[in-house]
Amino acid sequence: MASQTGAIVQQSLNALMDDSSFLPQLQDQRRAQAFQSLAAILSTPNKVHKAFLRIALENGSVVRIPAFRIQHNDALGPYKGGIRFHESVNEEEVTNLAALMTLKNALHEVPFGGGKGGVVINPRGYSEKELYQICKKYVQYFADVLGPDKDIPAPDMGTGEREMDWMMAEYKSIHPGSPYLGSFTGKSIISGGSLGRREATGKGVYFSFRYLMHDFLRDNKGWLAGSSNVFAATALAHADKPLTIAVQGFGNVGSVTAMEAYKCSAIRGKVVAVSDRSVTLYNEEGLDIPALIAYASANRGDLPATEAALTACGARAQIMDREAVLYLNVNVLFLAALEDQIRKDNVEQVKASIIIEGANAPITGEADEELAAKGTVIIPDILANAGGVIVSYFEWLQGRETQFYSEEEIYKQLYAKMQKTMNSILPAYFGDPLPLRQNCFVHAVMKLSSVLYRQGKLY
Ligand code: GLU
Repeated sequence: MASQTGAIVQQSLNALMDDSSFLPQLQDQRRAQAFQSLAAILSTPNKVHKAFLRIALENGSVVRIPAFRIQHNDALGPYKGGIRFHESVNEEEVTNLAALMTLKNALHEVPFGGGKGGVVINPRGYSEKELYQICKKYVQYFADVLGPDKDIPAPDMGTGEREMDWMMAEYKSIHPGSPYLGSFTGKSIISGGSLGRREATGKGVYFSFRYLMHDFLRDNKGWLAGSSNVFAATALAHADKPLTIAVQGFGNVGSVTAMEAYKCSAIRGKVVAVSDRSVTLYNEEGLDIPALIAYASANRGDLPATEAALTACGARAQIMDREAVLYLNVNVLFLAALEDQIRKDNVEQVKASIIIEGANAPITGEADEELAAKGTVIIPDILANAGGVIVSYFEWLQGRETQFYSEEEIYKQLYAKMQKTMNSILPAYFGDPLPLRQNCFVHAVMKLSSVLYRQGKLY
């Protein structure tokens, strides 16, 4: 496994080796052996499924589209993770994302393993009918390895409820008579989806920020003042001050995060910038997020990108280039677009002191080190963006019970789960020089190692 995930898995393993609570029942050589087995398990996926989907396009031509389903680890439960439709999808990327799912689920005690899928297409380049065929074919090719107790896909970049509904319907016709509601999550409500699932990732992303920078801070000020930890210093320096906020990405995660920030009265934050695939919109007085959301939902998800479009939308802003959002002079930056957005070559230009990863792996390993050295607080992906998979778990449970919870109940349970995770990490984190990301990874790997040991896998 390459890139940041591989490096971080390695770092957490190193930290684990020196930690006396790692399999304390084992002695020297046996412990080293278990450690090696754990490293091997985490750095390679259990199974890699690859296919070329044969699709007849509407213009009469036939194409073969590469598609993946990678099952990283199932020690904690059935494999779980989204299916991404994007032209940059490749096996290595999907493998890394599958490993992140294993760690994300372990961190939040969601009883699932980690998996991820991908199809190498730009969904905007296909008609609805073609996309329907692609979804059907995906399920046909991987029908044997998917299922409510085997591997449960969900939406990811480029997919949503429409695709999950199509896929579940195909699964149902391939496996007649089987319980199918739990085979896919992120479905529409009418197809057995959960209230709140669509907004869950964005709401959870904002919640992680609000909890750490407000509730937790308020309740632990004295303690934080005595800590030499980077988070403590940055958080205290920003406490009770009006904060400027920028959000990269205006899709399912970014738009909801921006709206939460816009509405939040606990933190006196002002969303001054948002961006999408083509523009950054900036207004130092704060942006009219509801107007931008209304515009985007009427325009294929796009932000207004011209003066005329901005006037039609009723929001006032300066139009800047797509990347500008990353370099603005703001306190807080939410990354809710793609991976590898902050890299060695542009990290120096990033000015925000607090960064929250709504996307998976938006900061490369090298950039992460530089930011940590500068004292930037990063709330990492596996902590911040788990709202989606947590509510997917609630959806899966509701499908099994065929009984559905209210939206209020869903959010209550979502926040309670995320808060529990944060409370279990933070005390250790503040006594520890490691950045929050490494703490989350160590925490997740520790949990996995105990389970793997008990399952007899660490020999
Ligand atoms: N694709 C989302 C993620 O990366 C959600 C996965 C799920 O709900 O299974 O966390």
